[in-house]
Amino acid sequence: MRDYNLYRCRVCGFNHIDFLPWSPWGEDGTEPNYDMCTCCFVQFGYEDCDLEDIVLYRKNWLSSGAEFKESEYKPKNWNLAEQLQAIPKQFLPHDWNLNEALQLVSSAQDRFHSDS
Ligand SMILES: [Zn+2]
Repeated sequence: MRDYNLYRCRVCGFNHIDFLPWSPWGEDGTEPNYDMCTCCFVQFGYEDCDLEDIVLYRKNWLSSGAEFKESEYKPKNWNLAEQLQAIPKQFLPHDWNLNEALQLVSSAQDRFHSDS
């Protein structure tokens, strides 16, 4: 059985199983393919190597509005909250709080709207 968690982006939780021929971090989770996440643009094997990097990248992505970067890959019923909840626990900080994360996103979106 495939480990579906291996197909998830460590930063944003997007499941690449339908898009990548192999998982971002290889079949056993130790050999990154240096591809890029279509959702948050993290590069597997460079920017998601340890928890500190993952947390920082995720925070930047969330606080810039958590856009799905490559829109042609964006699922029709894309749900950010569900995707974030699917991030494997070992890639979340101890003080992870989904509501706070979503708050970062909505304040970023407010900011964009008030700029335009
Ligand atoms: Zn991602």
